[in-house]
Amino acid sequence: MKIVVLKFGGTSVGTIEKIKKVASIIGNYRKKNYKVIVVSSAMRGVTNDLIKKSRQISKNFSESEYDVLVSSGEQVACSLIAGRLKYNGFKSRSWLGWQIPILTQGPHKNSRINQINKNKIISYLKEGGIPIITGFQGMNNDQRITTIGRGGSDASAIMLAKFFKAQRCVIYTDVEGVYTTDPNKFNKAKKIKVISYEEMLEMASLGAKVMQPVSIQDARLNRIDIEVKSSFIKKSGTLITKKSNIINSKIVTGITSTYNDSKVTLVGVKDKPGVAASIFKPLSTNSINVDMVVQNISANGKETDLTFTIKTEDLNKTKKIIIENKRIKFRKLLFDKRVSKISIIGVGMITTPGVTFRMFQALANKKINIQVISTSEIKISVLVDKKDTKKALIVLHKEFKLNK
Ligand code: ADP
Ligand code: ASP
Ligand code: MG
Repeated sequence: MKIVVLKFGGTSVGTIEKIKKVASIIGNYRKKNYKVIVVSSAMRGVTNDLIKKSRQISKNFSESEYDVLVSSGEQVACSLIAGRLKYNGFKSRSWLGWQIPILTQGPHKNSRINQINKNKIISYLKEGGIPIITGFQGMNNDQRITTIGRGGSDASAIMLAKFFKAQRCVIYTDVEGVYTTDPNKFNKAKKIKVISYEEMLEMASLGAKVMQPVSIQDARLNRIDIEVKSSFIKKSGTLITKKSNIINSKIVTGITSTYNDSKVTLVGVKDKPGVAASIFKPLSTNSINVDMVVQNISANGKETDLTFTIKTEDLNKTKKIIIENKRIKFRKLLFDKRVSKISIIGVGMITTPGVTFRMFQALANKKINIQVISTSEIKISVLVDKKDTKKALIVLHKEFKLNK
């Protein structure tokens, strides 16, 4: 069976007019004799609105009810798509995660798809139907509705492509593909034709919202090629694939920035073994992800300043944990939300010396101060003042010749 999985994001189904357009894209695949499985996200803004409501009803809204609530947006979008396809003369119906079922494991709000029952969908495809499946949701062993993390419809599409052995998995979105940097933030960003899973995973984890990181992990693990393209403009997009399929890679493939990091500094911490562990252990127990870390040793060698970054949404919790931590002593606790993490990503870095120097020099030339640094084999991240974000993106884009 020639199966294709098509995923439509929130903006693509954001209005009734856009849903009509989506239905015509789906119809075109069907006319080319593909068996089409559609995955849709909720209409733009709906999920955010539902999350807001959960906060208004209760400060500690139950996580299982959160999943029931926030997954409801997808039901609306899927039913509208199916309705339009029927209007256009196709056989179509919507399917909620639990009706298939799409099974998940892991905690509410952040589950992972581990099994998809194929029977009903395969029979429906054989009858010539077009199933429209809700992204972002599944069901756990207790038969409760789960969700798989924000932006999770991407992962739903990849897992459907895996279980149904789809020939193609196309992620339709509001931009033409994956760009060297967010095209909505910098208009000189260039569309990338092909990108490796490894680079895409780094880009996604470091702020390129276009793909959800978990979906790229799943795609990489299962060797599923992904095409990312626009729902609105008929042009070729970006192929996300394995490294060996890529012939020419640049030193730097993409640049990302974040808007939701905060910097925490403990001034005057005792400089002795075990202190950093005493600080980070309770944070990790409370599922707070510490990202970049830097430690300055004081002149007298007895005290140190420890700086690290966390997600801004974890800031209040972090403050509380540190203040209540009896095992550590410090002179002052500082917080800064006005920071942004800028990262350059590229597999070409592995074999090219001097990339770090070029990055730092380019930023220095524009008088951009680097506050914290972290690196991996294929990425270098620096923390800068939020007001310098755009300036940094522009100068690095130029330095690594991404405009060309
Ligand atoms: P969807 O609703 O289709 O899932 P998202 O809003 O999740 O779409 O992702 C698309 C958005 O990702 C784009 O509108 C763009 O602003 C943003 N984005 C960030 N970085 C990049 C990048 N490097 N390439 C393309 N888009 C990016
Ligand atoms: N609607 C969900 C969200 O906004 C899932 C998705 O968009 O992929 O996070
Ligand atoms: Mg998305």
